[in-house]
Amino acid sequence: MSLLILGSVALDAVKTPFEEHEDLFGGTASYATISASFFVRPSMVAIIGDDFPKQYLEDLKQRNIDLTGLQIVPGKTFRWSGEYFDNMNNRKTHLTELNVFADFIPVLPEAYRKLPFILLSNIGPDLQLHVLDQLEDPRFVIADTMNLWINIARPDLMKLLARIDLLSINDSEARELTGDNNLVKAGEILRSMGPKYVAIKKGEHGCYLFGPDQFFSCPSFPLEEIKDPTGAGDAFAGGLAGYLTDHCDAAVQQGGINFDILRQAVVYGSVMASFAIESFGPDRLRTVTKNDIEKRVQLLKTYSLL
Ligand code: AMP
Repeated sequence: MSLLILGSVALDAVKTPFEEHEDLFGGTASYATISASFFVRPSMVAIIGDDFPKQYLEDLKQRNIDLTGLQIVPGKTFRWSGEYFDNMNNRKTHLTELNVFADFIPVLPEAYRKLPFILLSNIGPDLQLHVLDQLEDPRFVIADTMNLWINIARPDLMKLLARIDLLSINDSEARELTGDNNLVKAGEILRSMGPKYVAIKKGEHGCYLFGPDQFFSCPSFPLEEIKDPTGAGDAFAGGLAGYLTDHCDAAVQQGGINFDILRQAVVYGSVMASFAIESFGPDRLRTVTKNDIEKRVQLLKTYSLL
């Protein structure tokens, strides 16, 4: 069973109160696909320019990832730069350079159209909808978004919400999209916009999962040092989607994806996010082992009586 992941592959520049790095391997699809590849062989849909560092491309090729849907075209790769302040919970975007992204039309390879599990990582909602239109019979669709699209592409975002099963969104975006400051109310308002399930990420404070008459609060894995929070949300969604895809047979036996399996998937997603923030770029995330993941999952469960 495979998982389709759409999103950006980028070169990032990141500044924190302690360090600054440029030309980092970044992008929402990069973090999500690397994270999911510990559970399944994800199929990536993204675009890069011919300036994309060979070493980063090699990193992707050497992983358990199907890259048939990765377009490599003449031009410059998408670039993003951001800065973190205070306790790393506040972020400001300094630059978003679309480059090859400006003309990106995600055309799915034939084999991808039948894929049942879909993760539409953060990218323009028009592109997320375009991918949905090409799918034959998606079984479970997860999508992520960001404040930029809430501000400039709300009508498309609303169309998207009506067609997905799970929305993964962070707390400030949930407040902005719903106009409600209370996250418990915001979660229910988001569910009324379409998705049966909503995961609201709260950074170091964990994650709320909402379902029909169901609620789960998952703590984040406690870390002494956070190097760079970039990509935490994407690693979370990739881990969650990878776990679900890997456990789909068990889910089918129980009548489909249910809240219990989703709760487990959220725990795995939270652990994958904790690895993503321990280095600049995905260096730490891509070098963890299955054993490291299981150890943290067990610890997180012990710490929180889960
Ligand atoms: P996150 O920290 O989960 O919000 O994701 C960070 C990643 O999102 C970075 O590696 C960026 O390259 C990527 N990114 C930032 N802005 C956008 C955008 N407008 N569209 C697609 N990807 C983006």
